Parts: sequence; structure tokens; C-alpha cells
Amino acid sequence: MHDDVTLTLGRARRVLTERIWPAVHSTPRPFEVSSHDLPGEPIPPAEALALDYRPYEVGTDWGAPWGTTWFRLRGTVPAEWSGRTVEAVIDIGFDKNMPGFQCEGLLYRPDGSPVKSVNPRNRTVTIAEQAAGGENVELYLEGAANPVILDSHPFLPTQEGDIRTSSTKPIYTTRRMDLAVFEPEVHALALDVEVLVELVEELPSGPRRMRILQALDDALDVLDLQRIADTAAQARSELTEVLASKAEPSAHVISAVGHAHIDSAWLWPIRETIRKVARTTASITDLIDRTDDFVYGMSSAQQYAWIKEHRPEVYARVKEAVAAGRFLPLGGMWVESDTVMPTGEAMVRQFSQGQRFFEREFGIRPKGVWLPDSFGYSPALPQLMRRAGFEWFFTQKISWNQVNVFPHHTFLWEGIDGSRVFTHFPPMDTYNSQLSGEEVAKATRQFRESRRATGSIAPVGWGDGGGGTTREMVGKAERLADLEGSAKVRWEHPDDFYARTRAELSSPPVWAGELYLELHRATLTSQHKTKQGNRRSEHLLIEAEAWCATAAATAGFDYPYDELDELWQRVLLHQFHDILPGTSIAWVHREAVAVYEEIRSRTEAVIARALAALVGEGEQEIRANPAPVARGGVNGLSARPATDLPEPTPVHLQETDAGYVLDNGFVTITISREGHVTSAVDRISGRDAIAPGREAGVLQLHQDFPNKWDAWDVDSFYRNNVTDLREVTGISATVRDDGAAAVTVSRAFGDSSLEQVISLEPGSRTLRFAQTTDWHEAEKFLKVAFPLDVRAEHTAAETQFGHQKRVTHTNTSWEAAKFETSMHRYVLAEEPGFGVALVNDSVYGYDVTRDVDDTGHDTRVSTTVRLSLLRAPRFPDPETDQGPQTVTYGLVVGADVADATRAGLEMNLAERRVTGGHGFDPLVKLRPDSGPGELVISSVKLADDRSGDLVVRVYEALGARATGTLAVGVPVSAARTVSLIEDDLDGADLPVEDGTLELALEPFEVRTLRLARA
Ligand SMILES: [Zn+2]
Repeated sequence: MHDDVTLTLGRARRVLTERIWPAVHSTPRPFEVSSHDLPGEPIPPAEALALDYRPYEVGTDWGAPWGTTWFRLRGTVPAEWSGRTVEAVIDIGFDKNMPGFQCEGLLYRPDGSPVKSVNPRNRTVTIAEQAAGGENVELYLEGAANPVILDSHPFLPTQEGDIRTSSTKPIYTTRRMDLAVFEPEVHALALDVEVLVELVEELPSGPRRMRILQALDDALDVLDLQRIADTAAQARSELTEVLASKAEPSAHVISAVGHAHIDSAWLWPIRETIRKVARTTASITDLIDRTDDFVYGMSSAQQYAWIKEHRPEVYARVKEAVAAGRFLPLGGMWVESDTVMPTGEAMVRQFSQGQRFFEREFGIRPKGVWLPDSFGYSPALPQLMRRAGFEWFFTQKISWNQVNVFPHHTFLWEGIDGSRVFTHFPPMDTYNSQLSGEEVAKATRQFRESRRATGSIAPVGWGDGGGGTTREMVGKAERLADLEGSAKVRWEHPDDFYARTRAELSSPPVWAGELYLELHRATLTSQHKTKQGNRRSEHLLIEAEAWCATAAATAGFDYPYDELDELWQRVLLHQFHDILPGTSIAWVHREAVAVYEEIRSRTEAVIARALAALVGEGEQEIRANPAPVARGGVNGLSARPATDLPEPTPVHLQETDAGYVLDNGFVTITISREGHVTSAVDRISGRDAIAPGREAGVLQLHQDFPNKWDAWDVDSFYRNNVTDLREVTGISATVRDDGAAAVTVSRAFGDSSLEQVISLEPGSRTLRFAQTTDWHEAEKFLKVAFPLDVRAEHTAAETQFGHQKRVTHTNTSWEAAKFETSMHRYVLAEEPGFGVALVNDSVYGYDVTRDVDDTGHDTRVSTTVRLSLLRAPRFPDPETDQGPQTVTYGLVVGADVADATRAGLEMNLAERRVTGGHGFDPLVKLRPDSGPGELVISSVKLADDRSGDLVVRVYEALGARATGTLAVGVPVSAARTVSLIEDDLDGADLPVEDGTLELALEPFEVRTLRLARA
């Protein structure tokens, strides 16, 4: 027979879009609308309802960027609508092609309680399922005029990303605000047709496809386009048979979970996220009330805490839905944080603060870590997740890889210590699924573990202000539950999916090491002050806890639990995966810098109080060492009067024609007149750290204009254009009062200038570079290069509680793609017998290249490590990193991993000088046995349960087995190993003798000890 598939599909598409969907609401009647404009910051609903409202005409402009307009909507249900479902239909100027990221609204009752949000693809609010004629309706709409930052012509610099620079003219125009009758049969027909059309588009030729096409034609033949509502039921009856045909027994199973990925800040400030979360959860609890089996998952304790504080009525509905098992707290973290940059202790606190919140509020401990977004995953995570009690991990971001396709969807992810966590990446490659036919078919087609596993997860709903899951998505899921030709869709808690899949896959594939995202590599560098604030805050809080615990245990100090919790929570919030990575608008980073400054001053005050209690009254200078390693004659985590300490021998400084020579007996450094390090000789081995004929500490400037995602991406071609900054505007040298020799170099380049103080302290193997840059470049990348006379096959870069090795070659596409990678406090290049480390106080990115010189008879291999210092992307913050920037980094000559670890700790936990009466001993002290491993104290604090117990966290830093003794400075009645988040584990108390306990750790193990004080 003649058959025209295209004709039928074209017909169905057009009728669906132009006739059926618009007929879902009939007989609309405009509300009588009045409004009140509030430029600037939002106000609480109770205040807004009491404002003066002036008549407003629908179809006119409203809303300057970031402002709020409150609309009052009044109407009356006509008598003839009695018994019908009546809805408000609202369009405040939505762009349907942009489900989030723009204007949004939340509707309130006259008593101020929120009803539901309206969003670009979710524009209705049910007023009554069975309306009473003559009833008056009054609603208030809080319209948020969030400007579009990432437009369809993307990544252009814009001033709209900060209320201080944004435009002031209205940017939206309302289109409709109506009361209307909801036609359930028309709505159902629309979903029937949409599901079938989308299915047909994915089906191969064959009888199933043909029967659906015929049914669609039959349905459209009986649908009267002038009387859609009257004929919808008849049209639907033509589709009953094809919709009732069951799925194949082996059909892929999609575990759908309602979702809205709401970035805690990004192209809007934190204050707007608070409202976005409230809007979305108001809509979702409404949807839960109107459906049967739909479940919705939400992560981030912080977002729940915001609803609780700012929209308590919505929170009460969330709590009810959680108790009913319909609203699922997921992820167990404080926020969906970046996981590459936070230090080990901060990752632990993401879990401990998150789980404590979920336990306290809902009596629930999420079983899995939920991080659909975020830019790569540290290989320390599997151990941290397992030791925090998690059973599974969820992400999908690795599907964004530029080059390599990740080989698994369901697998065991193995970390640096060997811990494995059961992991799933949804093969649909999205965390904003609409359950479209295309997405559902893609999941089936792409899923890589189909030989044994039966299903995958789909997070379903619009994120970021799109309002989450819609009733249309729920309607689609219902039709896709068991439909021939499609995967089967069911609403399901991810816990159930993971349990089932685990049983199906008895030996899952294993991926060992980091989940490196082959994209967004510049997130290790963009917005330097945010990164610096994070690093400093983490270390200050770790230090504050140690001093407070010591003072509480030995000097009756009142441990400031609440204040430390609050400070940690703010640090954790700013580790969110668009804040710490530097990918938010100017507003967010401006506020972040202010928050970090407040954290700094408050934490410094806590430290000062604790140290004052510890050193007592007096006039002596006391040196306190907050690092867990001895330095300058002071044990880790203790203090001594300066008078007890030997006077250091000043570093010898010699000026020559060629430059300067700095010598402290451990290393001899030569610095040229150009301010570059030409040699750095280890006096023990005699080895020079610098490659022959090369210079180290050379600042290199690259053009840096990626193809997309300016703040996120650096593309590999950036290397093709480089300028060495050689111009010196001043150089001088001096020996300082502390005995250090310092060479100060000033440089000018482009519109910028910088100063480096290159110093060597007595007794130190670290050549420090304290750099201040007055940065006024656009689309440039600043690196500092260290060509090392080391033939390193790999680098060792610190990650949480250990390090990861990365090869220095680019044999395969996987290695070549890692042209910019992450570090914490150090990166080490080492060959047997000799290594050189680079340490830093606020750098996270580096690159490494191998250079081979085989021009002569001999082959010399050197390794160039470059630290990533500053970038200047112009989107989304057009002024990224402009102005003064500081950073300190250091070259550690003759270092192995243990030396690098210590040098990194020292640089980030600087010695303190306070005035008092006496020093004090460490509360806990590690006495390591001789090698091969290295034990490090990561945290000393009082227990989160406020029992007064001491918690000490220790890890092994080298990847070797380690034993040692932990000596505790106060009487201990019992000691136990607990989970990372301080839960009891099975197992007996640990023997404690004379205040000491024996430790034996596996390679890279993180051990948390709980010590009850006698
Ligand atoms: Zn995100």
C-alpha cells in the first residue's frame, strides 16, 4: 500500500502543538490584576502582601533585572463552572525554549502561605478540582525578574550578572493571567499523542511502528478541531489498543526519580537560590498531593535548611511528603560540592554536616552520594563515601567528556586506597530528563551493562528554576510503564534501583582512579580569591578545632560547637560546584570574597580565644605550631616560648655579577638578574633541581580564549601562544630579621604588574615565592614554570588524604586529555633517589610536560611542572580576577612524598606568635614507627555529638603500610574506631595503655578515632 510516515507524523505534531495542547484550558477569564514593583532585594511575603497595589494591565512590561514584582490576582469562578476543575493559567513573559534561567513566580494565598510556582514550562495552578460557582479567588504572585545570563547566543560578556551593574529597565512582559477550566480528557489526549509520536520517531520500521501511525491517523480523523474537548474522548479511544500493548519482557527498565537540579548559586546569587528552591518544592509537594506513585528526590541539606528558614509552610509540606516516602532526601551532603578541590576534612564535613541534618530533621540517612553535576571526581572519594557509611554513588557528568567515551554505566569505582563504591551513570546522559521518547530510547541504546543489568536511572524534571517535575512528565511515565517498543518506566527510590542492580551484576566492571572530566579544566583556576578563601578557611577551621579541643581538654575552655558548625557550613556552601570552581556571576564571587573575609575574622577570633586559654597570662612571645608536624623546634599542635628556641642562623646571601646566591646549608639557590632561579642545589645529594641551562620561576602568559564556557574551559590550543615575562622593573635582595634571605623582583607586562618575593628561610628546603599581581588582563592565562632536572614517569599530586599519580606521557587519548589537572597543597616530580615538589597556599591546577634533550651523545630527560596562577575569562563575570591577587608557592628541593606533604602542611598552617605565660604540649602526638608509611594527623576536635569525647583523624599519606603510636595528653577511658562521620562501628574498644594506643594503617587509609576522656 501507499504509506507516508512523514505525513502522519507531521499531522500529529501540528495538531498536537497548535490545537490539542492549547485546548487543555477552555473559556479563560482574565484576572483583575494589580501590582507593586520592588527593585532590589526581595522582602518576606508577609510584608509584601501588605504593600499598596496599583492596577496593572496584562501585556505590559514589568521587572528590572533582579527586581521583584508582586502581582495581586482577583477573580470569580463563574456559576457555570461549578463542579469543573478550575486553574489559574499564568505567563509572565516566559521563554518556552529556556525552562529555567529566567523569570519565575511563586503564588501565595492571601494568608501568605505559598501555593505553587509558575515556570516557563509549568504555567498552571489548580484552584479547585471541583470548583464552586461564585467563589472568589485571590492570589499573590511573587514575580522574580531574573535576567537571562546564558542566552541562546551564549558566552558573551554581560553586565547583568551583578545587581550593582545590571540594567534598570523592565525586561519582561506578561502575556496572560487567567482563570480557566481544565479539560482532563484533552490533557490526556495530548499526552497520549505526544508519547506515541515520540515513540514512533525512535522505532525501527515494522508492524509496531505502522500500527501506531494508523492509530494516530484514526484518532485525528475523529477529532473535531473546532470541538476538541467534546471529541477528545472519542479520539483517545482510537489509541487505546496501541497504548495497551505491553513492553517486551527484556525491555530496559528506567527507574525514574523526580528531580530538579538547582545549582546553589550560579547565574543568580544565593538569595535567589533560596527562592528557587522554595518555588520548586512548593510545586513538587503540590504534584505529590495530586499523584499516586510519583517520587521526587532532592539533595543538599543546605537547600532544606533554606526552605525551613525562609518558607516554613513549604517545609512543613516537604516534611509530610518525606514521611510518606514520596519526597526523598538524597546525597547526604551539605551541598552538591565540588569534589576535586575541597581538602579531606572539608569533604568529611560535607558528609557529616549533611547526614546530621537529614538524621535530625527526618530521621533518615541517605544511602548514596548524589552528584549529577560537578566537574570531575577525586579518587579519594570512594574511601570517604564508604567510610562515611554510603553504599552508592550517582553522577552523569563524565558523559560531557570532550574526547573519550566512558566505558561503563554501572560499575565499581575504586579509589586510591582500594575502596570500591557501587556507581551508576544514567545512560540517558542528562539530569533534566523530560522522559521524551528520544531520551528513553537513548537509555536503552547506550546502556553498557545490558548483558546482565536490567535498568538505569532517570532524574526527571526541569532544574534551576524550571520548577522540577511536571504533571506532564508524570503522565508520560504512566503511559511508558509497560508499552510495546519502549523501555519500561517506573517511579522508584534510587536505593531500590541500586539494591536490585547490585544483585543483578555480581561482578561489575571496575574503574580505578580519578573520574577526570575532559572539560571545564579551567575551573581549577578561575576566580582566584574564591579559591584562596576556601583554602584559607578550611585550614583556619582545622586549626581552630585543634586549639579549641586542646584548650577544652586541658584548660576548661568552652568548646564553641555552634560557632564552628556555622562557620563550617558557610565554607561548605561555598564549595558548591559553581562557586568554588569560579563559574558563577560576579555577584556570587563578590559575596563569596566577603563571606570568606568574615569567616577569616571570626575564626581568627576563635583561635585567639583558645590560644589565650592555652598560653595563660604573661608577656612572653609564644610560638604556636598549628601544623601536625614539628617545625622550628616546636612539636606539631603545641607551643613553646620563643626564648626556649634556638636563634636561627641567618641565611647567607651573596650578590654576584650574575645575580644572587642564597645558602642556608641545606640548599644553595642561584637567582639571575632577571629574577629567575638558575640553580637550586640540594647540599646533601649535590643534585640541582633545575634542568641544565633552564630557568625556573618563569612566569608565562598565554592567550586563553576557549571555544565555549569561558570561566570553565581552557582548550588545548592555549599552549600554542606563550610569552615569557622577562621584563624586570626592579630587583633587590636583603636578609630579613627572621634570618631569611629574600630577593624581590618587580615586573610589568601588558596592563599589569607584579612583585615576587623569593625567599629562603633558615633550615628550610623550600624556596618560597610570595607573589602579588596587579592583574588587568583579558582572556589570558598566567602560569609559572619549573623545568626540573628530574626524569619523572609520573607526578604525584595531593588529593584528599593522600595523593594520586598521573603519568607524564600522552600515549593515549585518555592521557592527552589530561593537559590540565588538579592538586591540593603539593605536586611532586620524582625519580628514584631524588625528587622536587611544588607547594602552594591557593593553587589547584597544574600541567606537566616531559622534555627530552638527545641532541648530544647523552639523552637528558627533564620534567617541567607549571602551576596555574590566574585567568581572565569574561563570561559569566566580565571582570574575573581583575585587580590585586596574592599567592604563595614554593619549590621544595630534594623531596619525596613525605617531605612534600610536610611542606604543604607548613605552608598552609603558618606558625603563630602570641603573647602569654607559657607554652603547652600537644593534646595528641603521633610517634611513627620507622617507615615505610607516613601517618599524618588530619583533625583533632571534640565529637559532633557534644559528649566531650575527643575525635582524632589520622591518615597514611604515601600509599604504604604504616604503624605508629598515638599518645594522648589527657587521661583516656576508652578508645574506638568510628566512621568518618563519627558513627559507632562494630568492633571492640581499642587497648589504651598509659594514654597511648597502637595504630596500624593500610596504604592511604583514613582512620577516625573517638577517645572518651576519663
Ligand atoms: Zn550544577
